[in-house]
Amino acid sequence: LDARRPILAGNWKLNPKSRDEALALLNGLSPSPSDVDVLIFPPLPYLGDVLKALPAGVQVGAQTCSNYEEGAFTGEVAPSMLASMNVGYVLLGHSERRTLFGETDSDINARVLTCLKEPNLKVVLCVGETLDEYEAGLLNSIVDTQTRKGLSGVSAQDLINGRVVIAYEPVWAIGTGLTATPEQAQNAHTVIRNTLAAMYPSTAVAESVRIQYGGSVKPESIADLMSQPDIDGALVGGASLDAASFNAIVGGA
Ligand code: PEP
Repeated sequence: LDARRPILAGNWKLNPKSRDEALALLNGLSPSPSDVDVLIFPPLPYLGDVLKALPAGVQVGAQTCSNYEEGAFTGEVAPSMLASMNVGYVLLGHSERRTLFGETDSDINARVLTCLKEPNLKVVLCVGETLDEYEAGLLNSIVDTQTRKGLSGVSAQDLINGRVVIAYEPVWAIGTGLTATPEQAQNAHTVIRNTLAAMYPSTAVAESVRIQYGGSVKPESIADLMSQPDIDGALVGGASLDAASFNAIVGGA
């Protein structure tokens, strides 16, 4: 169960608009409590400065990365570059990458596999259904398919070693103020664990993979979410742009 240490992550997306504001946000963050993983995903240009000024114990991730390792791919950022800067995580398959930038399950899987070639990188793989899919009763099949395709070719050992965290983010709850109820989130997390159990013969896989909930998480909602047996943390967008709110979410977990 130690394998499922709570993990609280803040996804800053395309914010804040300047380095000074980014450093002010960072300076407001509390050191990480020793019994949880605290992680922030700042925009890439700020990474160098953020890494120098991190509150104790707080870890850093990139919001996406290339599926190419090196070469003539203008504008891309390779996993090895991130790893060499002591970036520990890469967020992959966020719904904004899927819907606004056209990333398919197979694109996302290629990035997952490229990241896992770097021994010191971990991946947060996002999955989740849209409102239309939810209303059509497709939650289980969408989440199952995105998990299977996203993890295609990932070894059981990498999963047991905690190298992949899954973030369940119902698209209808991202940035909308609508939160899945703790029971709805728990249900979706069970679907993901069942998929892991079906994909990997070793029961250790489904039991050891951490699954975060994401979608309008606020200081007021974190404790009830975390009380669910299969919710191991949260991926926080909007509320991570306010240091006091993010600190309160970490504290409330
Ligand atoms: C997200 O984008 O990962 C997210 C969960 O955003 P928000 O908390 O703003 O809904």
